[in-house]
Amino acid sequence: MTFKNTYGFAEELDNQDDLKGFRDEFYFPQHQGENKIYFTGNSLGLMPKRAKEALQQELDDWAKLGVDGHFDAKNPWFSYHELFKTSLAEVVGAKPLEVTPMGGLTSNLHFLMVSFYQPKGKRVKLLCEGKAFPSDQYALETQVKFHGLDPSETIVELHPREGEVGIRKEDILRKIEELGDELALVMIGGVNYYTGQVFPMEEITKAGHEVGAVVGFDLAHAAGNVKLELHKWGVDFAAWCSYKYLNSGPGSVAGIFVHERHSESAELKRFAGWWGTPSDGRFQMTKGFIPAPGSDAWQLSNAPVLSMAVHKVALDLHLEAGVDNLIEKQKKLTSYLEFVLKDLSDRLPSVKLTVITPKERGSQLSILTEGSGKDLFNKMTDLGVVADWREPNVIRVAPVPMYNSFMDVFNFGQIIEKSLEELK
Ligand SMILES: *Cc1c(COP(=O)(O)O)cnc(C)c1O
Repeated sequence: MTFKNTYGFAEELDNQDDLKGFRDEFYFPQHQGENKIYFTGNSLGLMPKRAKEALQQELDDWAKLGVDGHFDAKNPWFSYHELFKTSLAEVVGAKPLEVTPMGGLTSNLHFLMVSFYQPKGKRVKLLCEGKAFPSDQYALETQVKFHGLDPSETIVELHPREGEVGIRKEDILRKIEELGDELALVMIGGVNYYTGQVFPMEEITKAGHEVGAVVGFDLAHAAGNVKLELHKWGVDFAAWCSYKYLNSGPGSVAGIFVHERHSESAELKRFAGWWGTPSDGRFQMTKGFIPAPGSDAWQLSNAPVLSMAVHKVALDLHLEAGVDNLIEKQKKLTSYLEFVLKDLSDRLPSVKLTVITPKERGSQLSILTEGSGKDLFNKMTDLGVVADWREPNVIRVAPVPMYNSFMDVFNFGQIIEKSLEELK
């Protein structure tokens, strides 16, 4: 498709967009009485309007029923997490048995690594992406130390080649092969938070398994953003948060995936809790942990119903829009943004905006700025854009197919032009 950086063209794209109605399902922060250009759904997704009512339902049941809400609430809290099985499964390409909403992302990564990072003999190494999200770096570092190993000798980082931004697929696969029987675990982000690169998860999984390693992914920037087929790809485990592309609210309940092949695995170590036992025997409080089937066995605590109430409506919206429809729109929306940025760079000699996100990408584009990039960012912010700045000189923007429009992208370009004008 040939794009045009004009108001009429953006309007036309919006008219053709089957998902345009979903924009009205969300609250937008305001700037001078109008919706801000909200391009930080990769950091905190917008609030679905339905969240209020969903939350109110649980608050009302709590007020009315107290402890009896566990069984008598409209959506009984005892089994609340079971409401998510099919929608989560669809979002990450899994079987319902393989997914569970629980806890927080980083804590889930720890619990999963307790089970799936089992260094033994010479097989101790852990492969991850360089410049991983800091929380993941700390989790990996402390897991390694927990086993009495030295992080500097045990953690192997993947880096782009000199002068490149993305990490090449062949370099990842070669490194896995090279580590061979020393490799215990591959633990990479599905989408890198800084560059926006989507990693070849299927091929990484295959390569990891070929050398006998376990393969897990942090899907914080992938869930709700790119096509995932965790079951089919044979991924061992994965974890994600729900407040980025899944729009479930700040710090809302996270989610995990454990492949069904590990479902009945008796020798797996784990740090267990009562919600990980089969639901029928849970209140008998018997001695000795018996794991529930599937990923539920990793649950520890009873369901955080208030945050799950929001998660539920947010996932419903995702399914109503359709996972594949969202991805199709995402490709068009992000391509249009790339086009608008290129048009600006071509027309305005004063601006150097380089998209550093490789072509394997989801919604997000990371824009390398030169010179006074921070001034431009601050000016854009004053004019109603919500994007984010990553030191030393990158602006991250993610138009989200669920609620962003092509007009948002056009207006974003206009605001950049205006900002540059005002900064002269
Ligand atoms: C957002 C994000 C986190 C945040 O972790 P929390 O435990 O939810 O605070 C961790 N890792 C990655 C890769 C992220 O993008």
